[in-house]
Amino acid sequence: MSAATPHAPVLYGGVETGGTWCVCAVGSGPQTIAQRAQIRTQGPSETVAAIAEFFACAPEVAAVGVGSFGPLELDPSSDDWGVLKRTPKPGWSGFPLARELKDRLERPLVLDTDVSAAALGEQRWGAAAGVRSACYMTVGTGVGVGLILGGEPWHGIVHPEVGHIRVPHDTSLDPFAGICPYHGDCLEGLASGPALAARWGRPPEELEPEHPAWALEAAYIAQALETLVLTIGPERIVLGGGVLGQVALLPLVRARLGELLGAYLDVPALESGLERFVVPAALGDDAGVLGAIALAERRTKAGS
Ligand code: ZN
Repeated sequence: MSAATPHAPVLYGGVETGGTWCVCAVGSGPQTIAQRAQIRTQGPSETVAAIAEFFACAPEVAAVGVGSFGPLELDPSSDDWGVLKRTPKPGWSGFPLARELKDRLERPLVLDTDVSAAALGEQRWGAAAGVRSACYMTVGTGVGVGLILGGEPWHGIVHPEVGHIRVPHDTSLDPFAGICPYHGDCLEGLASGPALAARWGRPPEELEPEHPAWALEAAYIAQALETLVLTIGPERIVLGGGVLGQVALLPLVRARLGELLGAYLDVPALESGLERFVVPAALGDDAGVLGAIALAERRTKAGS
């Protein structure tokens, strides 16, 4: 501990790696981002070198959190902890991301998925602040779900892959076959942004609010959320991503989820039309990198 600046806030590093861009930041929360940079995602070696260069200018950072695209090995007891699994991104399959970053950054490193990091960011500073259990769903180019249970990001033998659960698909109402290369008509195959574009011939941002696409989309999302409510019983559900940011969608999702749940669950959180239960994300595009900062903060406080 430095005695020179006893009241200076501890600063943490956050990295969100994405398919096109990586965002790096230094700070201690949404109001205290001291440095921020966007780095184009290239091959793994070039990308890690660029991230290391950013943090070389921030020696005061106590620890770095990373929210990465996956799939990732996150079992800390595994020899492959922090290794990218099979991914279509050229050069990244099998890359030991955590080890390479840790070696270059030379300070404690915490790794999680980009979606889990965003979920943690929303629970630390955003739309799920103050609750201990939350589901964060993002619908954009894919469908991802991060689960915060008991204040901790949840992982089992894999990190949550809720985007690939099956949802009831009535092909007489929706003959679209779905676009998931693994499952066809899983949730992501039916409800991601590219699925909407393929089904309707236009990207979702060009579909008018009264377009029937939105009722169908809300039905699929609500079916997945019903499963999450009945299995996990979160205190709050946070919806983010480009597709869920469409103004027409949120009220439809609440209404459909309310219909699906009916009167079966008699709990106060589900009253008032679900307006306080299903809420829009509050941190926008910064949820991931702020969640990465929250990962570093948690690790540092747990170790101190
Ligand atoms: Zn799938």
